[in-house]
Amino acid sequence: MGEEDLETLTLIRVAGEFVTYVLFPGIDETAFAERIDWRHRESAGLDAIISPWRKDRYRIAIGTAVPDLILSRLQAVNVEGETAARAERLGGIEPAMTLAWFAGVAFFATHEACHAAAGHVAYQKALNPETSTGDLPRPLDLATFRLLSELEADGAAAASLLSADYELMRTIEGLSSDGDDRADSAMMFIVIGVFATLELLASEGPVEDGYPTPETRYLNVVAAVFRHVAPHLLLLKSGDYVRREASGEEVQNVANRFRHSVLPALAALNHFDVTAPFGEDIAALLGGAIPNKSEAGRDLARYSRNRARFMRALSGFRETRMWDDFND
Ligand SMILES: [Zn+2]
Repeated sequence: MGEEDLETLTLIRVAGEFVTYVLFPGIDETAFAERIDWRHRESAGLDAIISPWRKDRYRIAIGTAVPDLILSRLQAVNVEGETAARAERLGGIEPAMTLAWFAGVAFFATHEACHAAAGHVAYQKALNPETSTGDLPRPLDLATFRLLSELEADGAAAASLLSADYELMRTIEGLSSDGDDRADSAMMFIVIGVFATLELLASEGPVEDGYPTPETRYLNVVAAVFRHVAPHLLLLKSGDYVRREASGEEVQNVANRFRHSVLPALAALNHFDVTAPFGEDIAALLGGAIPNKSEAGRDLARYSRNRARFMRALSGFRETRMWDDFND
């Protein structure tokens, strides 16, 4: 085995351990991730296989090409202007891009772990007539299930990675993690890693089989990041348990933080054009509005109308209480 292979396998193992021992304990009190057995499997693609294992465990085998594919995409990122200035604050381009790389691999692993934690694996098994063990109450059609489960795994993975920004920073050698604006700088590179990986993931599932389009997945993750940065603004919108009004200043602060981290990250990946309808929809999400300028925005708004039905169908399959808040 060559040195590179060893580095790849180490990165896969460290990402799995990070998800189990650092990331999930911060978001899930049931210690679900300790029931995951992380493995790797020889593969040239960006893939992973999740399989139920023993009584209540899951085995997630990550393809050995995953770290290299993410790294190749990151090597095409334009680190210049605001992105370069932020990299300097983290100790230089190398540690900053290593953070993006690790965040990307960890995002991939977390996305898969979320499929298991959210009950998607168990539900899909029940939905399939060949593996089903009985009648499924309120079954979803496969396309709706696939769509909403991908969006749910993307959103949960992105939001939980961003809430572990300091833990992620600490895993990177040579990266300086203290100072006032380190969090925003780190957020930018975590977002770069997440979106680079999302772009690769989104090119895998065929849209005609029910997978969401890449643009829909980007907008969905932008919305998830926004929910993470400004949960109090979201409470305001959810209606019945408003505790306080967000001031115009608070909204402005959140929007600023977002503009200086997420938007330059998307620009560095060539995912963002303010003048295009897609860019306008990102701005709409930023302002708390429903995206309706681009096709992806309209799709996302349409899918969210199926969300309550999806939540009810999955409620008996959830492996953790992470999704309880959304249940009606
Ligand atoms: Zn997936």
